[in-house]
Amino acid sequence: MSTTENHQRQGIVVKKTIGKYAVRSAEGSPIGCALAGNLSKQLLFSTANPTSMRKRVLEVKDLDTVDPVAVGDRVTYLLNEDGTGTITEIHPRQNKLSRPATDGARHFKKSGPIEQVIVANVDQIVVVMPAANPPPSWDLLDRYLATAEASDIPALICFTKADLLADDLSREIALYRQIGYQVIVTSAVSGLGIDEVQAALKDRVSVLWGKSGVGKTSLLNAIEPELGLRVKVVNDHNSEGRHTTTHLEMFELSFGGGVIDTPGQRAFKIYNEIDDFAQLLPEMRDFIGRCKFGLDCTHVSEPGCAIKSAVTQGAITLRRYESFLGMKEYFG
Ligand code: GDP
Repeated sequence: MSTTENHQRQGIVVKKTIGKYAVRSAEGSPIGCALAGNLSKQLLFSTANPTSMRKRVLEVKDLDTVDPVAVGDRVTYLLNEDGTGTITEIHPRQNKLSRPATDGARHFKKSGPIEQVIVANVDQIVVVMPAANPPPSWDLLDRYLATAEASDIPALICFTKADLLADDLSREIALYRQIGYQVIVTSAVSGLGIDEVQAALKDRVSVLWGKSGVGKTSLLNAIEPELGLRVKVVNDHNSEGRHTTTHLEMFELSFGGGVIDTPGQRAFKIYNEIDDFAQLLPEMRDFIGRCKFGLDCTHVSEPGCAIKSAVTQGAITLRRYESFLGMKEYFG
């Protein structure tokens, strides 16, 4: 075996800051890694002195030049003598949550915007939505779910602050369950649903997704003491930067599994090209292709639309249909 092979390790990226990564391997605690030269070509370099031979990494912006490594990536790295690592290879991803990089024209190539992978290889997205204070935003919930569908990542819905609930949400909850989503109703104050969340997170890698103020910190603290606070430290750091996903971390759960918080994420545009947004609403999928105009139907004003007739007959709710129309505007 060559010296190189001796020092080669496999691991998972559990933390990412600007230009630096922490990689966890079966061998022990995470070690700090940088990117090998061929991969770091994609980073941004200082242009202050173009004649300088010593290029300096300025930042790993969201990027044209998008950071090629995401939290959750499985990588090969070389262990250096000083105990740090050099990532030499990113393994093919099982799935990824990504968005078009948003930082202006620099992030457009001829074929369109550049993909920014936020997290890779996750088992599920936990959409966190307050049951009250503020009341749930159904359009936003549907957009989160649609993004999960577009990414082929299973999603579950976690309602928070159930102790403050004044309105009856049972119809909505039944609707999402009927569509096929697991729905957990929680309160960090009363402890309602916390064991159910723990069971859902156990031994899985989960992405937590919800706006700030929805109760993610409180929920995480209820799941595991101090966990929310540890996550918050990373998030607070994030809020100083323009791009909230520059720093991300996967937190290990003491009972098995990991959570990655995506701080401050609103719904974002879907990177993949979507032919028909009805594909992203599971209860609409079966009707695609059954319209009078077949796959050309936009399900808006055409006669003989199978989806609109399913709405009339009550097989699809008007609210989810309106969400679908909103998505065409928002994502389209
Ligand atoms: P984050 O920004 O998503 O991390 O939200 P926090 O966990 O910081 O919660 C935002 C606010 O909602 C705080 O004032 C919390 O005390 C409150 N809150 C969070 N969860 C609950 C809950 O289950 N019940 C009640 N009554 N308040 C909650």
